[in-house]
This record gives sequence, C-alpha cells and structure tokens, in this order.
Amino acid sequence: MCKKRLKLVFGPEIVGKPVTYNLIKKYDVIINVFQARVLPDEEGHMVLDIRGKNEESIKKSIKYLQSEGVMVDFLEKSISYNQDRCINCGACTGVCRSGALLMDQESWELIVDQDKCLLCEMCLSACSMKALSLELG
Ligand code: SF4
Ligand code: SF4
Repeated sequence: MCKKRLKLVFGPEIVGKPVTYNLIKKYDVIINVFQARVLPDEEGHMVLDIRGKNEESIKKSIKYLQSEGVMVDFLEKSISYNQDRCINCGACTGVCRSGALLMDQESWELIVDQDKCLLCEMCLSACSMKALSLELG
C-alpha cells in the first residue's frame, strides 16, 4: 500500500464533475479528505490522502486528475514536535482548526496527531517555545 498527501486546486468548471468518483472507480484508490472548500462558481481547494496498491496506481490517479484540469501539489512537509521544549501551555491548540493539536484531558499534555495536520503552519508562530517546526521531505 502506498500513500501520498495531496493538495488539489481546481476551477469552477470542474466542481460539478464526478472527478473523485471516477478516480476511486477507475484507479482503485482510497481517498481520505481532510479539508475541502468547494463552492459553485469559485475555485475549489482540497487536502486529501490518496492510497493505492503501489506507486503506479497513485501516478495514474494523479495523471488523471491533471488531465481533468486539476492542479496537484504534493505535501511532503510535516510538523515536527519537540516535546523537550514544550511547556504544555496549550496556545497552539487555539489556532489549530483541524484537531491535530489537542490537550490530553487527564494529563494536560499536548497530543500531536500528524494524520489530522493540514500544514496550515498557524501553530508555528503561536508557540513561543519554538517546540513546533516545519520539516521538509
Ligand atoms: S504552544 Fe508550544 S509550548 Fe505551548 S503547548 Fe503548544 S507546542 Fe507546547
Ligand atoms: S500546521 Fe495547522 S493543522 Fe497542522 S498542527 Fe499546526 S495548526 Fe494544526
């Protein structure tokens, strides 16, 4: 199984088309959408994970998306958490809208869920301890 996190941007002409349906049906991939902003007559944005049997199925899926006019960006970055620097103040949780940063209700320690992170980078400036940083590749 192979997985890639992608950011998709597409024009209003694509909004009504069954692009994700075709993707799943034709290329036998699993889609997990983390964020979507799709409004009629406006550009659409999506952040999703695409899982396929192998690299080839992912490549074919991306080619299909591009052939339909979708702009595809690979999100190879991740948020890195340095627990030694963290004082569990919770400031970062206030700016994280995806639920990737939460305080444990018993220990009041920060929990970082990378799977929910949308790489918006809002938490980086919220942390005065520099416990959160952006890691490339
Ligand atoms: S803002 Fe920084 S120090 Fe505070 S909980 Fe978040 S990571 Fe830890
Ligand atoms: S980058 Fe954005 S989504 Fe990810 S942990 Fe930070 S605030 Fe949350």
